[in-house]
Amino acid sequence: HQLNICVAAGCLSCGSGELKTALQEEVARRGLDKQVCVKGVGCLGLCSAGPLVALASKNVLYQGCGPADVETILDALGGAPAKHLLCSSDIPFFNKQRKVVLEYCGKIDPERIEEYIAVGGYQSLYTALRQMTPKEVIDEVTASGLRGRGGAGYPTGLKWSTVSKAINAVKYVVCNADEGDPGAFMDRSVLESDPHRVIEGMAIGAYAVGARQGIIYVRAEYPLAVKRLQKAITQAKRIGILGNGIFNSDFQFDIQIRLGAGAFVCGEETALIASIEGRVGKPCPRPPYPAESGLKQCPTLINNVETFANIAPIIRNGGQWLASIGTSKSKGTKVFALAGKVQQKGLIEVAMGTTLGEIVFDIGGGIADGGTFKAVQTGGPSGGCIPKQFLDMGVDYESLAKVGSIMGSGGMIVMDQGSCMVDVARFFVEFCMSESCGKCVPCRVGTRQMHDVLGKIASGRGEASDLTLLEELCDLVKNTALCGLGQASVNPILSTLCYFKDEYLAHIEEKR
Ligand code: SF4
Repeated sequence: HQLNICVAAGCLSCGSGELKTALQEEVARRGLDKQVCVKGVGCLGLCSAGPLVALASKNVLYQGCGPADVETILDALGGAPAKHLLCSSDIPFFNKQRKVVLEYCGKIDPERIEEYIAVGGYQSLYTALRQMTPKEVIDEVTASGLRGRGGAGYPTGLKWSTVSKAINAVKYVVCNADEGDPGAFMDRSVLESDPHRVIEGMAIGAYAVGARQGIIYVRAEYPLAVKRLQKAITQAKRIGILGNGIFNSDFQFDIQIRLGAGAFVCGEETALIASIEGRVGKPCPRPPYPAESGLKQCPTLINNVETFANIAPIIRNGGQWLASIGTSKSKGTKVFALAGKVQQKGLIEVAMGTTLGEIVFDIGGGIADGGTFKAVQTGGPSGGCIPKQFLDMGVDYESLAKVGSIMGSGGMIVMDQGSCMVDVARFFVEFCMSESCGKCVPCRVGTRQMHDVLGKIASGRGEASDLTLLEELCDLVKNTALCGLGQASVNPILSTLCYFKDEYLAHIEEKR
């Protein structure tokens, strides 16, 4: 029997570390070491029901387990599952998902390279280095239709091709792991659950564009992700998967980790480069784009964690395979951090084009505590609030933009009837205001002004003319701020003004 215990941050925070130790001790006490293997694995997905334990051979999942359940879990190994702990795995939360990036999350021990290799890990890197030219690798990524999962959705193959064509002796590959949206934990979960997958994607990218040095820029607030990444890099170096002459080829590649200090704006690629170089993390106008002149003025390939995590399966199965999943313009799958007022919260991955309704009501199990659906916020502080009439809309880059939101990196916060949409807009603008780097006036001053007007309205001191002022401010900030943080900070306001204007008016009416 194999007992897989989630040891990603979500379950660890509610005691899965102690549970794992208790299970191991009880297995030893019963002399079952040869029959029962207790293993720590990455995220099992249903974070709101942790600590989670999966009995792999029987497709059994236990939820809410603690050290007091150890005897029950072991007693039930040979017979029927322990009913009071059982979480059915035959529910939409699991069977409506399509896993590409998360294929090994919750199955392998993220701290052992042997387990990654045993499921076919690093086979794609081997194939790329030994059987494909760099151009063939880029062609495969282009054929897959993969678009950057960090938010902007830029075609990955095109970016790789631009960096590969740049003529320079030194090039860099950078993995953006500076996930900072409130409510988002996709990148953290991938790094904690399957770090080798990201390393493999970066190495394939480096081979394709002609780089020898990689850097993972990860938030210092993600200590477990950093620890597992560091361990994975050390293991990969030890067996020659990083370093010189990888797989007996003449390709060499190494990866360093750089820690970000938590500034949201450092997720913007020019600010991220400045931060890596030791300068203050503030964005610069583009062009030049990092693909031409990035880190130390060298051509630099920057992709986020999820984008790199898609690369190994593309090389393994072919670009056309990924292109067959999803919609005509948004190929493949998307990982979301499903949070807020849904019954089942956690880390999910769905095919592009899955409707918002399926995500909220099937995968999420509907609204918690008998509430009613009001809106879903996607894309974090740069995204918008999407109301009920769009529940049948398939989630892809274009559809989300059309209704005033963005895909973003994958945060998805569900709200019920109790959420005040003016407060929601104010919360996100406050976030942008405090995270503004201050370099340009429209963002530095504009976010503060928008926040003040929203505060006035929310506290019942607003006037009808404040709505016009708010719209004018949004227009100005959107069109004149230097980087995406400022430009997109207006989205939560514009989308709530568009779909929930009655709530703004109700606050203004309060005054009379
Ligand atoms: Fe800085 Fe905001 Fe201007 Fe971006 S838009 S450069 S975060 S002040």
